[in-house]
Amino acid sequence: MPALTWADARSAREVTVSSSVRAAAEAGRRTLAAPIRRNLQRLWSCSDDELRAREFIGLRKTFRNARDLEGYRAIRPDLVSAESGRDVRLILECLPRLEKSDIVGRERAYQRRLPGLDATTSGTTGTPLALRRSVGSVLVEEAWISHHRGWAGHRPGDVTAVMRGEVVADATDAAAYRYVPARRTLLLSSYHVSERAVAGYLDALRTHRVKWLAAYPSSIASLTAVALARGLALPPLTAIFTSSETLAPQTREAIESAWGCRIWDHYGHAERTVAAMECEERRYHLVPGYGIVEQVDDGLLTTNLTNSLMPLLRYRVTDTVEGWDTGRCACGRAGRHFATVAGRMEDVVIGEGGRRIGRLDFVFKGVEGVLAGQIC
Ligand SMILES: [Zn+2]
Repeated sequence: MPALTWADARSAREVTVSSSVRAAAEAGRRTLAAPIRRNLQRLWSCSDDELRAREFIGLRKTFRNARDLEGYRAIRPDLVSAESGRDVRLILECLPRLEKSDIVGRERAYQRRLPGLDATTSGTTGTPLALRRSVGSVLVEEAWISHHRGWAGHRPGDVTAVMRGEVVADATDAAAYRYVPARRTLLLSSYHVSERAVAGYLDALRTHRVKWLAAYPSSIASLTAVALARGLALPPLTAIFTSSETLAPQTREAIESAWGCRIWDHYGHAERTVAAMECEERRYHLVPGYGIVEQVDDGLLTTNLTNSLMPLLRYRVTDTVEGWDTGRCACGRAGRHFATVAGRMEDVVIGEGGRRIGRLDFVFKGVEGVLAGQIC
């Protein structure tokens, strides 16, 4: 096999990103997500009993989806039944923990072969995990993200810059961005931030009158650091939305101070077993009905309730979450919430010309025939 080059990997990804079909599909998904989004607000005022009842119904569905899968052969299907009681945590305690290493290489044993969307975890913490998502779970995810952005005042259709690792076709140091009208999105490359390119990023934000930015913490941190080092003025933003990596307190402070706006962080995983949204009081609220979360000494055991194609029961994620509270938050929302989460930190590689590159997992995405890879 010929050596894999950076350009090969990039072009494979660009085909996906630049497809007009994808843009049309995303516009359709936004439309379909709207009715779901309208129903979300009331979930924040559910009582504990209502939440537990919802979790029980969700868990029963998840068991139903899991019962014929090879990976769950050892699980008694009658664990969730009218006779089993309705305490989801007592039911889950009867199940073994599921580690990522249990699934990698035998993903099909945990997936239903029905139409859906394929995805992978980033692989930044080890071997990537192949995932399957139901269309419904994708819509629910998008609706929740849109709902969360609404807490900051963002509305669907507002022009938004995105700096989350999508490779921008034909990006150069002079223009490391691309505006996609169908998505009303300004794509900013996460892989071209350098002293030479930074002015172009800021000009693009001004040209398209962008007030909202969704970014990996490492991407916006790099852009901010380089812009400040060059003494450039930053265009005013209304809010910055971050997710997918741990947002360190000092990183948050530096970004918020530089851009003159606050960050609204979202905690979640590609496996879609747990999601939490940062509120006005800077507490992370577990999204009601999304998954069931059990705290253990070495992380969280998470059970998804929305994805019918890949049920994950007591799947362990290694993040450390602190400051749990079950009382009503000062923001007015009910349900469980926590203060901080620590886990995935991203290094940044300094490349030729001072270019800062993080989240290198994209190098292998969309490339056929690679069994294993390591960047070193
Ligand atoms: Zn709150």
